Amino acid sequence: MSSIVYLNGLYLPIEEAKISVLDRGFTFGDGVYEVIPVYHGNIFRLKEHIERLNNSLDEIYIDRPHNMAQWQEILRELINRNPAEDHSLYIQVTRGVSERDHAIETTARQTVFAMSKPLLKKDYSAGITAIVEEDIRWKYCHIKAITLLPSVILRHKARQTGATEALLVKDGFVTEGAASNVFIVKDGVVKTPPKDGNLLPGITRDLLVELLLESEIPCEEVTITDKELKQADEIWITSSTWEIVPVVKLDAEPVGTGKPGEVWQQAIKIYQAFKDRMANDICDQS
Ligand code: PMP
Repeated sequence: MSSIVYLNGLYLPIEEAKISVLDRGFTFGDGVYEVIPVYHGNIFRLKEHIERLNNSLDEIYIDRPHNMAQWQEILRELINRNPAEDHSLYIQVTRGVSERDHAIETTARQTVFAMSKPLLKKDYSAGITAIVEEDIRWKYCHIKAITLLPSVILRHKARQTGATEALLVKDGFVTEGAASNVFIVKDGVVKTPPKDGNLLPGITRDLLVELLLESEIPCEEVTITDKELKQADEIWITSSTWEIVPVVKLDAEPVGTGKPGEVWQQAIKIYQAFKDRMANDICDQS
């Protein structure tokens, strides 16, 4: 069965959803996006994702096409039209169709696209391997831009060596993963780099920091050097679809014991409990 997607006000089979070759998303990569997980019908951290989308739009001078209630309605409709246990929602907003000119034409209407696919839970509990790479990206990494060429290259480099993710270092400091945020554990203290233009303010990252502190697990938002990364007891990466994944091998060397660490075991339990609580709250309300 083909999936039903949303494009500029219409719900269409994916094969029928078409955009112009002059869409600035196509010619310039001129747009932003979001990926949002849905667990048992609960659009997880919807408010936070839409706030980040709005921030990305504001930063690149694209008018916000919808308010929170409108986004919610579109996403709900997509969930209903594409039955699955859990979903991964994708939203993309581009500056729309205009002559191929770098200058922004304010009359262009945004292209709004959204789709849903089943969120298939992979088992990462044995951990993944990662490599360290130089962060070759730009200075506006807090914007979730569709222009992802550096990340594509970095992820490919990881895959070429049999690793799953590339952890990025800029001027000697860890920024994030090619498509994830990075945490380390040293002597029982969890650390993740502070939010600035060098990394995406991950929704999972922010939630995890909050949940760890609530559980009185020491967690600091501090700079991490590449040396600290290599000497960490544990390394984790986070993202909305991966959640919290332990890195057990870095550049072919074991991380800590070479097995998912104890603090990760605690963190994943806390995260799962939060997810369950959210799903139950939604059920209670409906
Ligand atoms: N950093 C980058 C560069 C990413 O692409 C992602 C995944 N969207 C993340 C971090 C994690 O963000 P989130 O937890 O919001 O999925």
